[in-house]
Amino acid sequence: MKLHLQKAKSGKVFLVGAGPGDIELLTLKAARLLASADVVLIDDLAGDEVLSLCPQARIIHVGKRGGCTSTPQSFIEKLLVREALAGHMVVRLKGGDVSLFGRASEEIAALDAAGIEFEIVPGVTAGLAAAAALKSSLTHRDHAHGVAFITAHGAEGAEIPWQALAQSALTLVVYMGVARAASLQASLLAGGLSGNTPVIAVENASRADARSVCSTVAAMVDDFALQSLKSPAVLVIGEAMRARAVELASQEATHQDVAIRVVA
Ligand code: SAH
Repeated sequence: MKLHLQKAKSGKVFLVGAGPGDIELLTLKAARLLASADVVLIDDLAGDEVLSLCPQARIIHVGKRGGCTSTPQSFIEKLLVREALAGHMVVRLKGGDVSLFGRASEEIAALDAAGIEFEIVPGVTAGLAAAAALKSSLTHRDHAHGVAFITAHGAEGAEIPWQALAQSALTLVVYMGVARAASLQASLLAGGLSGNTPVIAVENASRADARSVCSTVAAMVDDFALQSLKSPAVLVIGEAMRARAVELASQEATHQDVAIRVVA
């Protein structure tokens, strides 16, 4: 009689987009996976409200908010691999969508290298939630034929083609731009974008405390400071925003200076 030494079956990892904050924007698939997860690794941006959907799971917080102490990326990758090898069903929850600015590529590489089965479940990215909050379309058949999702992280470096973007007539949706508004502004102006181009920042899109700040490329640094714009916020830049910017600015009776700049 032959003895079969069976290798323990490894688990599976789901990289899941949690959406921008409003729990109702979570996909049904994400909710189903959360309800059957053994372990959930959660980002700060994903928000704790979703945890009500996985009371059975072991929760590991792996927060990474800009500027604060954060869990090193390599440690998160090791955790994912370790938990999956232990046979667990692991949900790795990320704010917004998995494939945008969430370091998913490193996690995918680590899972591939360890031979662990995984799936990606998309989520609503912050930029789309911002457009919804503004009741606006990011494209416009007359003056915006596409959208670029960009991080301002390398705003001062040469790695982002700001000149090409400034001249592209695309709507620019800029992530992580609050702290780098000044270098973003300088790069866009140097790249040839008109200072009069509308910019609408949406803070906490989809959440109860969402708010928008309306400005122009030339005035955005001052206006963001004036209105204490805080992270997380996305900046939506381009002509597709003009009609909404004019309307929002005209409602901001206490900030007529802002309104005047946008409408001018
Ligand atoms: N994967 C995420 C982005 C992570 S990068 C997504 O797809 O949305 C973090 C940046 O996302 C923040 O600095 C901010 O620019 C943006 N962000 C995330 N949640 C947001 C929200 N609710 N409202 C506005 N911006 C948000």
